[in-house]
Amino acid sequence: MSESGNTSEIICPVCFHHCRLAPGQTGLCRARKNELGSSICINYGKITSMALDPIEKKPLARFYPGSKVLSVGSFGCNLDCPFCQNDSISCAGAESVPWESVSPDRLASLADSLRSRGNLGVAFTYNEPLVGWEYVRDAAMEIRKRGMKTVVVTNGSVSVPVLEEILPWTDAFNIDLKGFTPEWYRSLGGDLDTVLAFIRKAAPSAHVELTTLIVPGGNDSIAEIRNLAAWVASVDRTIPLHITRFFPRRNLADCAPTDIALLYRLADAARETLETVLVGNV
Ligand code: SF4
Repeated sequence: MSESGNTSEIICPVCFHHCRLAPGQTGLCRARKNELGSSICINYGKITSMALDPIEKKPLARFYPGSKVLSVGSFGCNLDCPFCQNDSISCAGAESVPWESVSPDRLASLADSLRSRGNLGVAFTYNEPLVGWEYVRDAAMEIRKRGMKTVVVTNGSVSVPVLEEILPWTDAFNIDLKGFTPEWYRSLGGDLDTVLAFIRKAAPSAHVELTTLIVPGGNDSIAEIRNLAAWVASVDRTIPLHITRFFPRRNLADCAPTDIALLYRLADAARETLETVLVGNV
């Protein structure tokens, strides 16, 4: 991928923010900066969190159920969700969170050593992995060499050329589809059209499941979920949709959790067009 501009100032091509970066300047995501006229990922191999998680926790309900996946995260994110559960790393930069350097080869070896505990591969998760897509690609190649799987848990908010870099090496995605109105996405610092393009491109090539966190007063109308589900069904009605419960976090710490009965009503509305709708976090 190439950047527009000259060696003094560039426009980062990785996501819809198109950050204009002066030499040495870091972008909104805190994970990339302009170095020698290129958008470089500064969180490459810098691991802030690591755990062997059940695959269902990603959440993935229809991809090797019952297995485990070595789950890793770095720092940085290109959205600014007021309800973020992982803001200690997603809103952090290299100086504000502890990390350990783990090469792609070492990560794949670690995953391999955990096979006896039911591990199927590596999940890139916790922060937004694709603001540092180069590490995901390089590690996924090593993981594939060992006959293991790569899972990417993402907000789906990067450009299609970035997705094309990792798609050949990714076995499964969980993609957040955080709602279905441009206004709601804008309030999260995101862009709905970017996410829809990402899902449309990923779905034919990898196993894809989607997650919609239902935030009271934000994206919780039956009409919105009905529209969202109908759009997903127009891509592929077999894509599983996880409708999950919000709990008070970050800037929405005073907001009540999502009403459980409402979650089930929303799931029923989504089932009018989708085959598999799961309710989570209840
Ligand atoms: S990936 Fe980061 S630096 Fe690049 S445009 Fe997006 S927010 Fe800006």
